[in-house]
Amino acid sequence: MSLTAKRILVTGGAGFLGSHLCDRLVAAGHDVLCVDNFFTGRKANVAHLLGKSNFELARHDVTFPYFVEVDEIYNLACPASPIHYQHDPVQTTKTSVHGAINMLGLAKRVGAKVLQASTSEVYGDPIEHPQPESYWGNVNPIGPRSCYDEGKRCAETLFFDYHRQHGLRIKVMRIFNTYGPRMHPEDGRVVSNFIMQALRGEPITLYGDGEQTRSFCYVDDMIEGMIRLMETGDDVTGPINIGNPAEFTIRALAEEVVAQIGATGGFIHKELPENDPRQRRPDIAMAEKLLGWAPTVPLAEGLKPTIAYFRGLLEAG
Ligand code: NAD
Ligand code: UDP
Repeated sequence: MSLTAKRILVTGGAGFLGSHLCDRLVAAGHDVLCVDNFFTGRKANVAHLLGKSNFELARHDVTFPYFVEVDEIYNLACPASPIHYQHDPVQTTKTSVHGAINMLGLAKRVGAKVLQASTSEVYGDPIEHPQPESYWGNVNPIGPRSCYDEGKRCAETLFFDYHRQHGLRIKVMRIFNTYGPRMHPEDGRVVSNFIMQALRGEPITLYGDGEQTRSFCYVDDMIEGMIRLMETGDDVTGPINIGNPAEFTIRALAEEVVAQIGATGGFIHKELPENDPRQRRPDIAMAEKLLGWAPTVPLAEGLKPTIAYFRGLLEAG
């Protein structure tokens, strides 16, 4: 290990974002410990790293304490798609809240810097648009999405209380919808759903009128923002939005996917899920100012490697 290399723990490291983060950290020469309970993550996502001397994979559930010596912790463990986080909502809240307590406790004991993968869901169905970090959100505390939204909100509270009470070095990142290779093909999220449906020649499922909006960030841009945030000085705690402010209706996304794949299965409408946010777009002025960060990959470009990834999965059977 070189003098600049750090010992880094990535929780949820076998998931979509976590595996891309591990790739970047391993390539930079850090000593990376990836922990995951494989609820939504897969060993295949990090299989290519297993032979490397600076990469280690451990099965562990973050709702239980963990004892290691590390310099930095990226806390990504938590199912992120509505289908997965609503499958066992009690476990989802436990993962966010107990997971945060355990990772903060670990950071406190070893003096590590700790980054929390929070979410645009803390803004709920936002009344303010686009969403700056100062907006407190519009979240239903008792709905089907609450296990995720409120779990993540409570995790943010814990991060700031550990910072104020114990002087912990924290970084809270609010991630907006991100897509790219290694998304779970059956996670029900809109990008994976539409691509899989189009590749199979099935109709594209538009929930509601398809006029609700989201802003989609390509995974490489997201990981760059995440690493830049971790590398900021101790005065930068966040919360900080990381996402692509280019906003699309869900219908426009469907049309782009269909155009790129040349699919002919058409569209069908399904009921809009309860508490589905009507609109979402990050205000990224703070990320631009503090991190010198802005996304570089437009949706039409990022969809190409994403489609190629899902096509590969289908061909492999
Ligand atoms: P993912 O489901 O692919 O990854 C989450 C990982 O955490 C998986 O590998 C899963 O097995 C693991 N995990 C779940 N519960 C765990 C537990 N109790 N103990 C240990 N590991 C556990 O999702 P992702 O898209 O990679 O999301 C990563 C993080 O980023 C999550 O915290 C998510 O809330 C956040 N986030 C993602 C997005 C997005 O668009 N992808 C948006 C906002 C926030
Ligand atoms: N959506 C859709 N069809 C699908 C899957 C999702 O129209 O097959 C819509 C969904 O209702 C939401 C948007 O796409 O308005 C984004 O959904 P996703 O689950 O990807 O993320 P989130 O709602 O958490 O942003």
